[in-house]
Amino acid sequence: MTAKLCPLTDFLAFTLANTSVPNTLGYADFSAEFIARGIVQLTPKQPSSTDIVLSCGIHGNETAPIELCNQLLAEIARGELQLRQRLLLILGNPEAMLAETRFVDENLNRLFCGTHQIGPCNIERQRAAIIETAVAGFFADATRARIHWDLHTAIRGSEHEKFAVCPYQPERGYRQQTLALLAEASIEAFLFNHAAAHTFSYHSAHLFNADAFTVELGKVAPFGANDLTKLEKMACVLRKLIAAESINVGAERLAKTAFYQVRRVINKDHDSFRFSFSDDTANFTRFKQGDLIASSEQQSIFCDTAIEAIVFPNAKVPVGQRAALCVVPVPLAQVCM
Ligand SMILES: [Zn+2]
Repeated sequence: MTAKLCPLTDFLAFTLANTSVPNTLGYADFSAEFIARGIVQLTPKQPSSTDIVLSCGIHGNETAPIELCNQLLAEIARGELQLRQRLLLILGNPEAMLAETRFVDENLNRLFCGTHQIGPCNIERQRAAIIETAVAGFFADATRARIHWDLHTAIRGSEHEKFAVCPYQPERGYRQQTLALLAEASIEAFLFNHAAAHTFSYHSAHLFNADAFTVELGKVAPFGANDLTKLEKMACVLRKLIAAESINVGAERLAKTAFYQVRRVINKDHDSFRFSFSDDTANFTRFKQGDLIASSEQQSIFCDTAIEAIVFPNAKVPVGQRAALCVVPVPLAQVCM
């Protein structure tokens, strides 16, 4: 395979152009199987222990992680990065990437766990079905370790620039070693969900017992406008995971990390719903007891505990959908095994 013709050297360009690629390609140390548009499965020739899913662009305009994943694939294709674990790399929503939007018809990250089957067919529902099939095929062997990091960037700034959302998994709990690995990759805060969410990471955690996280890596920027040096620590940890290199991080790596538990969800109850703060208010901005958080013609929502922080506020969602999460700081011991 010459580098020019190899889809892995610029998988993003191949995906956006919807260029046809062979079903499989053989390389010196691994094989590549092109499962669907923007989805490639890499299998090393040597035995391996872990199945890694890396996904990005589930929201089409969150470009920095897409560029990072594209770069990692190119490094693998050029032999600069040794593939020693199985890897499923997913460019989440190519149509939304082309449209430079978060989504075309509907938020793809609310359609997993089969939710895409309920309601009219659209671009994101079709895509969720394709991604679910690819993941089920990849995670076929339950005896192997499973990791899924779903990489995003946030719409707004954040008091913690990089943070991970941990899917609700009351039976399993979270291992400190797993969180420490993310902290090593520059994650500054963890947000523990309180309920099922039908996000992609919840899908992998719930159905496949994977160590799965939604990973937020800073603020949205267009293709080409990202400073990937800001993601170097994340890239470094991903390279080591892919190359099966040992990563020595102890639980003490979590000493400076913040932990939050979701306390309640604010749903948009009426067209008149609005927040008490401006659109550019950062994630994890704190409110104190009695502060007004949001209001509509039907109700006013106040902070009703000592401290609450607000995450993912978005008053533009349809009525009935989640407009924000209210979270409270918690000690590590309360959320970890
Ligand atoms: Zn996102």
